[in-house]
Amino acid sequence: MPRCDVAVVGGGPADLLAAGLLARQGAAVTVFDRSEPSGQRIGETLGAQVATLLKAAGAWDAVAPLLEEQPPYTVVRSAWGSPEPQVSEAFTRPLGVGWHIDRQRFDAGLAEWALTCGAVLRRGVGSCSIAAAGGGLAVVPHRGQPCWADRVIDASGRGAPASHALPGWQWVAVDRQVGLLASYAASELADPEPSLLLEAVEHGFWYSAPQPGGKRIAVLVTDADVLQRLGPDPLQRLQAGLAASQWTARRLAGRLLEGPPRVFRSDSGWLATDRGSSWRAVGDAAMATDPLGGNGIARALQSALDLAKTPDAPSDLAAGQRAFAAYRQVRARYYWLEGRWPDAPFWARRRPLDAAGQPLYAAEVVLDLDPSAALALGSALPAAAQAWLPLPALAVVAALDQPVAAHQLIGALRAVAPIGDRALVVGVQWLLSTGALRQV
Ligand SMILES: Cc1cc2nc3c(=O)[nH]c(=O)nc-3n(C[C@H](O)[C@H](O)[C@H](O)COP(=O)(O)OP(=O)(O)OC[C@H]3O[C@@H](n4cnc5c(N)ncnc54)[C@H](O)[C@@H]3O)c2cc1C
Repeated sequence: MPRCDVAVVGGGPADLLAAGLLARQGAAVTVFDRSEPSGQRIGETLGAQVATLLKAAGAWDAVAPLLEEQPPYTVVRSAWGSPEPQVSEAFTRPLGVGWHIDRQRFDAGLAEWALTCGAVLRRGVGSCSIAAAGGGLAVVPHRGQPCWADRVIDASGRGAPASHALPGWQWVAVDRQVGLLASYAASELADPEPSLLLEAVEHGFWYSAPQPGGKRIAVLVTDADVLQRLGPDPLQRLQAGLAASQWTARRLAGRLLEGPPRVFRSDSGWLATDRGSSWRAVGDAAMATDPLGGNGIARALQSALDLAKTPDAPSDLAAGQRAFAAYRQVRARYYWLEGRWPDAPFWARRRPLDAAGQPLYAAEVVLDLDPSAALALGSALPAAAQAWLPLPALAVVAALDQPVAAHQLIGALRAVAPIGDRALVVGVQWLLSTGALRQV
């Protein structure tokens, strides 16, 4: 079986930047990407910080000419918390103008750069698994030969699917969020919204943006179950979602859809897996965040830069836990700003009930849960439970079939969702306050 110093699984920005940086340090790096370069990608928006990161990596010259051809990202209009959009201009931001990119071309530019750094790209190999074998690690592609590697980097994106079969794999998802993506053809019609438009609706939120060549994309971000309830097929769900919007529907009126809408995962989650220094995760595979932040690519590039600074260091679970908790706090505050549909499942799941008065995880709450108290399942779990505890923890609670001591319950929750005991205790207290858990 062939062998390499570093095997990288994925084909996105985190993967390609990490591969190029490590190859430039002299490692024999092979990239395994399941899709061909022509695989479909969502068009995305980049903030100006991406240029800073690419310059730090030495990849700017390879990508800059591509970015110059993309529509500039100058204005954000945001109908969030009120039906009237607020406008934010790029010139008021410290780093200035960004880009609405063709993701396929952006990734292709990074791939070219990784090749010039000396990385080997094996593309179109189908889904790969990272496997533990003979005391080491190997990448096993669906097509083609497996490869032993001294070090393996999982950059396979949200949920870290490439590491799924590894012992200890643990993806701590906090929602089942998805994006319903519609692409619209170029049109002669004037666009009343020249730039990125964010619009909250009862089912979630829309964002829409210009694309190269005069095209437009629009994405309804919602939960998988909410989307299903919007209609029997993707087109009807798109129409129902648009009917609930005002500004998004107006901007797209009269434009032609390019093919049926597609659904993408967009759940927030963290990979709480530790396998020493021979295995690391970067980009969305390490921690995936809400598209609302609009900075997933910048985060992916930053994590590749961080990895290249200390390639031999073990993955740092404690730092990952802190980063995930901080991210959830920021996200909760942002969702708290939208209060028009407090009882709609999408919004209830994202708003801790007292977030206005205190930070997420209720830092001011006195932790008075008696560790020996026997707890049992009470009423059905409320939608808002997701704002307090990750999905694997809620699954443990929902499966309780007999009373359990509070400390044992916390132990069981910690095993599936190691987000810190304080956060778990506060979540359990909140469930007690709602009657979803009861003391017996
Ligand atoms: C709806 C939506 C809109 C978004 N909008 C924006 C935006 O406007 N701006 C922004 O900055 N970010 C945005 N993001 C986030 C951004 O897409 C990601 O954060 C970014 O792509 C992460 O890069 P990555 O390299 O970690 O993973 P990815 O880009 O997801 O790349 C993962 C790669 O791994 C490959 N792969 C997956 N599984 C396997 C396997 N088993 N074997 C081999 N290969 C595999 C995939 O084919 C893919 O090439 C958005 C995300 C979503 C869902």
